[in-house]
Amino acid sequence: MSEPIAFLGNLDADEEAEFLAALAHAMPEETVRPFRTLSEAERSGVGIAIVANPDPAEVAQLPNLAWIQSLWAGVERLVRDLGPGSAPIVRLIDPELARTMAEAVLAWTYYLQRDMPAYRRQQETATWRQLPYRPPGTTTVGLLGLGALGSAAADRLAQAGFRIAAWSRSEKAVAPGVTGFSGPEGLAGLLGVSDIVVCLLPLTPETRGLLDAGQLAAMKPGAGLINFGRGPIVVADALLAALDAGQLSHAVLDVFEVEPLPAESALWRHPGVTVLPHISGPTTPASSAAVVAGNVRAYRASGRIPAAVDRARGY
Ligand code: NDP
Repeated sequence: MSEPIAFLGNLDADEEAEFLAALAHAMPEETVRPFRTLSEAERSGVGIAIVANPDPAEVAQLPNLAWIQSLWAGVERLVRDLGPGSAPIVRLIDPELARTMAEAVLAWTYYLQRDMPAYRRQQETATWRQLPYRPPGTTTVGLLGLGALGSAAADRLAQAGFRIAAWSRSEKAVAPGVTGFSGPEGLAGLLGVSDIVVCLLPLTPETRGLLDAGQLAAMKPGAGLINFGRGPIVVADALLAALDAGQLSHAVLDVFEVEPLPAESALWRHPGVTVLPHISGPTTPASSAAVVAGNVRAYRASGRIPAAVDRARGY
């Protein structure tokens, strides 16, 4: 029997119970115990921690950690809170999460492409006006980020007939029909051809504030923006100014600098903004537990730590 795996999270009691039950079901051979139930001696024996917004002071009380499994796909907060000296951090790469996110990208792309914000505004003034139909094949969706989530979104959009452009840090082979851009110089190329820009980037020192006034001005006039990555990637004041100027037609935002979005934020009230409460790609206990179980079993069998976050890159 291996030493227990520690579970650390800032979750409510029901959520914690749900994750613990899913983990017990996915790997019955392991014992996963909340940090608070472990004695000091047990804590020093723990080699693996499974975490969801953990208290860094508690993680520091596990001196022999080999690696830390995040239950979230985005780990910028964990990387910051635990600092450079922590055990390797393994983020969640879950096909079910990628499927859910791709579904959300398609849904909100349709929302913009089928002019739903304009029809909503028309309804407010009882205006009956048919806007011209644009088939998906005449709409280019530009994906910022072509990782686990961006690739799944690209597949889903391609099946629906959209033209796709995609931007990543490194140059990569893209599927036929996808126009690939990379590096800082590639960003202007993507923004200049995209009718709808979808952000699925991680938050890193390089991506913080990336979509500022200058980059928003480089977008096609009247383009739409969907931010499902992280809030601070888009400069909110610059976005509001671009919407007011008509440079952008509408923004769908699921992520914000501060969450929950404070009631006084102008984003709540701007007619060109749709606010979503961070729901585009939720972590589901059953599928994430299956992914975690796969990682733990591979580690127990080989002693090799699963692919971890690259601290220098920030993701
Ligand atoms: P990955 O690490 O798999 O992919 C990240 C992508 O972003 C890669 O293509 C990477 O390029 C690219 N990238 C990173 N930095 C840069 C840069 N400086 N310039 C250009 N491209 C860059 O992450 P995932 O796809 O799994 O997740 C992406 C993000 O989505 C998460 O970090 C999280 O913040 C967010 N998220 C949001 C959720 C929500 O509910 N709203 C749910 C889950 C995640 P390269 O391919 O060259 O490495």
